[in-house]
Amino acid sequence: MIGAGGAGLRAAIEARLAGKKTAIISKSLFGKAHTVMAEGGAAAAMGNVNSRDSWQVHFRDTMRGGKFLNNFRMAELHAKESPQRIWELETYGALFDRTKDGRISQRNFGGHEYPRLAHVGDRTGLELIRTLQQKIVSLQQEDLREHGSYDARIRVFAETTITELLLDGDRIAGAFGYYRESGEFVLFEAPAVVLATGGVGRSYKVTSNSWEYTGDGHALALRAGATLINMEFLQFHPTGMVWPPSVKGILVTESVRGDGGVLKNSEGKRFMFDYVPDVFRKQYADSEAEADRWYDDPDNNRRPPELLPRDEVARAINSEVKAGRGTPAGGVYLDIASRLPAEEIRRRLPSMYHQFKELADVDITQEPMEVGPTCHYVMGGVEVDPDSGAAFGHVNGLFAAGEVSGGMHGSNRLGGNSLSDLLVFGKRAGGHAASYADGLASRPRVPVPAVEAAVETALAPLQRDTGENPYTLQQDLQAVMGDLVGIIRREGELVDALSRLGELRERVAKVSAAGGRRYNPGWHLALDLRNMLVVSECTAKAALERRESRGGHTREDHPAMDPAWRRVNQVCSLEGDIVRLDRKPLPRMRPELFALFDRAELAKYLTDEELAEFDVLAE
Ligand code: FAD
Repeated sequence: MIGAGGAGLRAAIEARLAGKKTAIISKSLFGKAHTVMAEGGAAAAMGNVNSRDSWQVHFRDTMRGGKFLNNFRMAELHAKESPQRIWELETYGALFDRTKDGRISQRNFGGHEYPRLAHVGDRTGLELIRTLQQKIVSLQQEDLREHGSYDARIRVFAETTITELLLDGDRIAGAFGYYRESGEFVLFEAPAVVLATGGVGRSYKVTSNSWEYTGDGHALALRAGATLINMEFLQFHPTGMVWPPSVKGILVTESVRGDGGVLKNSEGKRFMFDYVPDVFRKQYADSEAEADRWYDDPDNNRRPPELLPRDEVARAINSEVKAGRGTPAGGVYLDIASRLPAEEIRRRLPSMYHQFKELADVDITQEPMEVGPTCHYVMGGVEVDPDSGAAFGHVNGLFAAGEVSGGMHGSNRLGGNSLSDLLVFGKRAGGHAASYADGLASRPRVPVPAVEAAVETALAPLQRDTGENPYTLQQDLQAVMGDLVGIIRREGELVDALSRLGELRERVAKVSAAGGRRYNPGWHLALDLRNMLVVSECTAKAALERRESRGGHTREDHPAMDPAWRRVNQVCSLEGDIVRLDRKPLPRMRPELFALFDRAELAKYLTDEELAEFDVLAE
């Protein structure tokens, strides 16, 4: 397993339960992954707080949130299997917040029709990782009893970065990397690899992502012959901190809005009512009075527009700031202080309370927060078979799960759907990787020249005396992506971005890192840069080609959603060093899933031709 977030750990548990020997490799410390930072919760239609919830409603919300570009089968499996994965976590020792009658409590979140996020205050990811790690430790204790060693069947390699996948022909044979501390190299021989490396946010200036998220898994997959889909879709979370500058981008959880927080501009106006798009008008309140009533009486009122999907809210904030109605630091206000008693805010949102107190000297029980969009999540990722997580393309034995995989969330992910995604598809990928290994007639062998090439590539930045500093190159890359391939995109800027990425490619090829191999972050970044670059090229190319606006891809010059584009996935691959982009039709949704939607709603997304097919099926 490359990655020790929720997807990697859940996959490792499944592979170990299937009797396989598994290495869990993590670039950062064991336990420090984005999963641990998740605050709001994991979405699962358990129906504990509103019994009307069901997998069908969750499926519908997910497809709507992704603007119907989702891989329907992934959305279906996710909606059906999330509740089991959450209950299963409690058998591993998790303890979620409870309802008054003792069931797992569920909170509201953007785009979810009913309260659906299982949570532990605003520290849900911590509980998720703690529990998965605890399960792993208990399996290692079993292994000690049975085989005499904790590491007999699961071994953790923390602070170990994989730089290359190794192939025997078109079969995965292993992975190559280095230990961060010593700089020594390490070779893993493995017939199957699960990529669970998370996102790409560090290619952007303002991001909620931490240093490790440089698109490594995406790039490893490309170089191994796999394909990426939907790379034009990046989620800019509407609420990141905007002040002080040193913490710009750090996430402010959506739970603040789920628990009653409202967005206001510098004139004190609750502006989200002005930004409800037609496709969502039926489900969202059109007055403050109705929106406020919804928190206590959701069955007879419509939801507040602050809980629209993230892409809508991020664009609305962007427009308010651009129109001169922003805060002094260039964001908008998020007010929970006037909505809940101070004690309740501290109880429900303890991390947010401390985050603002410590980082910005703001008491969120007394004053509003200043927030603005921050690059948060990549919807695009490795193109996989929905049931098994096996990567498409010219490679066998490669699997992907969690944020590094693509398709599940379409053009926009709903909050809470990532934690459940990584549990559902982590389990599936781990199980299928184990079966794949079982089915091999012969074990693939790592070719020596491939290892020699990996060593040479890894050492190159240390051996160049001249060449640019990796930090300068990263800043330049972040400037290109943030300024030209950001939240609002335009053709001219995307063309410019591609030409600058071309120049950066030449500069990155000559990057030089000072110092030696022992704990050398400059060297590590030099190696990450080629991953960031190739993934950024995929994003910029796909963004230029997709001439419409949908979810996490907004084109100022093509502001409408175009039903013809809904049928298209853009597929990114590598030919030598060159990023190639192809179009591929989206898999067709099964008729019984289509039947879960009103025709009037489908008409907003589908082409006339698709609607005609739907009408025939409905007869
Ligand atoms: P991660 O948890 O990101 O783990 C990736 C792992 O891969 C890490 O161990 C990393 O070290 C390792 N890795 C990366 N590259 C390499 C390499 N080259 N070699 C070896 N290891 C490597 N989602 C929700 O559903 N609900 C929420 O409330 C929520 N809140 C969030 C809050 C924050 C602040 C952030 C940043 C994200 C939040 N998300 C939330 C999103 C969600 O947390 C992530 O999408 C999800 O945790 C990704 O899980 P993962 O297992 O795919 O990867």
